[in-house]
Amino acid sequence: LAGTPLVIDNLTKAYPGGVTAVKNLSFRVEPGQVLGLLGPNGAGKTTTLRMMMGLISPTEGEIRVFGHRIRPGAPVLSRVGSFVEGSGFLPHLSGEQNLRLFWDATGRPADKAHFTEALEIAGLGDAVRRKVRTYSQGMRQRLAIAQAMLGLPELLVLDEPTNGLDPPQIHQMREVLQRYAATGRTVLVSSHLLAEVEQTCSHVVVMHRGQLVASGEVGEIVAAGGEATFRVDEP
Ligand code: ATP
Repeated sequence: LAGTPLVIDNLTKAYPGGVTAVKNLSFRVEPGQVLGLLGPNGAGKTTTLRMMMGLISPTEGEIRVFGHRIRPGAPVLSRVGSFVEGSGFLPHLSGEQNLRLFWDATGRPADKAHFTEALEIAGLGDAVRRKVRTYSQGMRQRLAIAQAMLGLPELLVLDEPTNGLDPPQIHQMREVLQRYAATGRTVLVSSHLLAEVEQTCSHVVVMHRGQLVASGEVGEIVAAGGEATFRVDEP
């Protein structure tokens, strides 16, 4: 697997109208890490992930994914899978049928073993054969994760995948991410909850008002900064 999964170098995003959502942000994600991008609402996490996916362009700086510079409009690398909340499943089709439609639309060759492994990691069980309209919020969310995992991308990018979930569903989501990471692949997940990052991630980048305020191994960051490092919510 050539290249570092993700290198972010001096990234800045100023939106028209004056908000600088991300400012001089630099960090990297090494193979096999589960990196949590942690920060309160408005810290700039979504803006960072949207730049990574090539959906919006940075004002300054650059992003490299497996050595390839990300540019808006360029095709998203097949080595990256991303999760988009509520990604418009067809309710009258089964979960499995929805995923097959999605995969066919990517134009990439069908790989039955990969497909089956992604479904297993997502932990949907027999429910994949039920119609999506019967799914709970947690099931839909896991189906969306399964969709991001199809093809078993080497870098999986998830923007607040536990949003709107209850504690048991959050627990299941954590297990899904850990099973994925256990295959040796790399995960980047954003969250505004320290506890979630502590339980799920190996590494963390803490953002506040668009800037990096701490980064490193989760255990080290907690030990070094204690609670104070994470007391980044607005007063
Ligand atoms: P959340 O968890 O609420 O999504 P976040 O950490 O993902 O928070 P962003 O959504 O990246 O933060 O937002 C960072 C800042 O940029 C906020 O002040 C937000 O209001 C602003 N912002 C986001 N999108 C736009 C936009 N399209 N135009 C102008 N400002 C924006």
